[in-house]
Amino acid sequence: MNVELPILLDVANTLKQYDINQQSTSYKKILNTIDHRIFELCDHHIIEDCIDTDVDNCCNIRYCTECLLTIDIQFVFSYLHHSLKSVDTTHWTLYYNNDSYSIQRYWVQNNKICFSIILKNKHDILYFDVNNITRIQCDSGNVIIL
Ligand SMILES: [Zn+2]
Repeated sequence: MNVELPILLDVANTLKQYDINQQSTSYKKILNTIDHRIFELCDHHIIEDCIDTDVDNCCNIRYCTECLLTIDIQFVFSYLHHSLKSVDTTHWTLYYNNDSYSIQRYWVQNNKICFSIILKNKHDILYFDVNNITRIQCDSGNVIIL
């Protein structure tokens, strides 16, 4: 097993004990950074669950039973944003299905991560439903979707 992951899970678990309403912006940033790294390292086992929002309503969430991260569109988008913001846009590359594409922009629409890309000098848009993405890795501007 990866040695980094259990340490980070431990740290995240400790940090999450502090009341979320009391957490400063910097504190949340640290926690987010740790969660993003956990997201990269964990060999996720994702299940869907229904959590009660009040007496009559519940909402579906997808979370990993190993790292306990809730993996929704906001989380995946924040992970992407966190990884790409420090890299010049000219280096953004998407690797998917044995192809690589130059990424122009990315955004969220209808629970999908959308990439505006260039393929053979033509613009195109690739959509990924967050519920179908099993793995997304981002490093030095390279976005790898499996
Ligand atoms: Zn996980």
